Amino acid sequence: MTDKVKVIYFTVDGKPEQAEFRSDFPADDVKDCFRSASEAGPNDILKLYNQKGSIINISPKLEENGPDSRYRLEVVATNCDTAIAKRLGVDMSGLEARLQELETKVKVENGDTPSVVYDLRNKVECFREKLEGVEHLSWLGLFKDLVRYKGSKHFYQNGTYLKASEADLKRVWEKFKKMSNVQLTTEVREYLRQPSFDNWQWEDAEMLVLLQQMYIDLDFVSKFHIEIPVLQTFLFEVYKHYNNVPFHNFKHCFCVCQMMYGISWLTDLCSLIGDIDVMIMITATICHDLDHPGYNNAYQVNAKTELALRYNDISPLENHHCAVAFEILEKPHCNIFKNIGPERYKRVREGMIKTILATDMARHNEILSEFKSIRDNIDYSNKKHKDLLMMICIKVSDISNEARPMDVSDPWIDCLLTEFFNQGDIEKLQGLPVAPFMDREKTTKPSSQVGFIGFVLLPLFETLAALFPVLDEHIVEPVRKALKYYTDMVKALEEEKKRKEERQENGENMVKNGEATKMRKLSQTNGSVTSQVEAK
Ligand code: 5GP
Ligand code: MN
Repeated sequence: MTDKVKVIYFTVDGKPEQAEFRSDFPADDVKDCFRSASEAGPNDILKLYNQKGSIINISPKLEENGPDSRYRLEVVATNCDTAIAKRLGVDMSGLEARLQELETKVKVENGDTPSVVYDLRNKVECFREKLEGVEHLSWLGLFKDLVRYKGSKHFYQNGTYLKASEADLKRVWEKFKKMSNVQLTTEVREYLRQPSFDNWQWEDAEMLVLLQQMYIDLDFVSKFHIEIPVLQTFLFEVYKHYNNVPFHNFKHCFCVCQMMYGISWLTDLCSLIGDIDVMIMITATICHDLDHPGYNNAYQVNAKTELALRYNDISPLENHHCAVAFEILEKPHCNIFKNIGPERYKRVREGMIKTILATDMARHNEILSEFKSIRDNIDYSNKKHKDLLMMICIKVSDISNEARPMDVSDPWIDCLLTEFFNQGDIEKLQGLPVAPFMDREKTTKPSSQVGFIGFVLLPLFETLAALFPVLDEHIVEPVRKALKYYTDMVKALEEEKKRKEERQENGENMVKNGEATKMRKLSQTNGSVTSQVEAK
């Protein structure tokens, strides 16, 4: 009987109103019904009271009533411009307006905004995001139900808030186009081949230029007849499909691709497995986390998201990243492979699917042990061997943050933990299982890294370096250093904790001793108290 229409009678500001909806309507639609009756905005907070004056939940399960037993609807908090929000110093729109004014004032001649203004804007956006994500501050009128947005099956339709604004995209595209005609210096092109490359010094448009340069310098543009405007639209379309999440964003995609690029040069991979397979890997790294929502597969499965349902719980994210990649490539103006012929396109598609799906960490042991079984007798003309090597290479690149210099890797670990802890928080709110490494109460940065590097990263890297010894110095050694650094830190933290506990214990004893002394003094005047303390 789910499709029965319910009629709810209520008053708003004393005016009689009625809402009609079916009991199988989504809760948000029902809320929207009441929202329009009270002319409230999307961020305003509504409360519905029954005749006894108790608050009742606005949901499809709302109990039906009659015109004589009307509920009362009230808008209890409106958007942040209210006096109270201003008094609390959270006048976001005022802050944003002032920032915009400042931005206009300091715009430099070539149309660029100085980085200090970007930093400021980022900080304001981060602050707004923080406010919007904290449920118990919902009375400020800024709260966005992130669980609803990110967790539900509506996510992919409504998830546009995770994307850059049209204005930002336009700015990046124009800058990319303007800069892409500029010849990069030999030093930059050489530096781009180093695993020690520092991504933090480059802005998005510049990273797009660098990605373009990789296709040029590996000779893919000439060998596979890639048209530069098509390559540019492809790269920009990829850029647009990464989300503004703390870790799995465009910068991560750039880093993974840049590491793959570095490994390709260090090992002379093109001459071992052929250009087309290296092009597959470079393109796969660029696409490997497309449209990542910032919540991992475990969440997708446990929350029964649209992705988990679509892919039957089997690597839902990786399947999605890959599907988005081919949606982009299928557009003729983005298809960098349109001039390679159908046979080679088939290989590209198969290779990209295989390598992107291999980035699901749930398959880590399976892939690593298969690779180990062929590594010592690897035959580069054997397709199965080549596929396994390609999967290992993309996996190495994917988790290679710790292979970079400390000042490059460190912010990445913070980004990852921010995303993990975000997920842990949402899982707690939704009553879903929380993995210990996503629980901010249970994990610290050093403990997380010691476990991950020791059990996952180093064994994987050492396995590849056994095949390519040149990698030992460039990518394995920094990982060993990072492991030592974090192990020392864990030890130091444990010792500090022990010392603190000891100090606390000593403090308590001192208090006890102090009390005993006080009691002894008292005992000089009262013999009966003395015997009680002594007995203790
Ligand atoms: P991705 O999701 O990027 O495709 O796959 C890599 C996964 O490996 C990440 O989601 C994350 O779970 C894990 N990972 C990668 N780098 C690190 C790291 O430095 N520390 C920890 N603890 N996990 C990592
Ligand atoms: Mn990744």
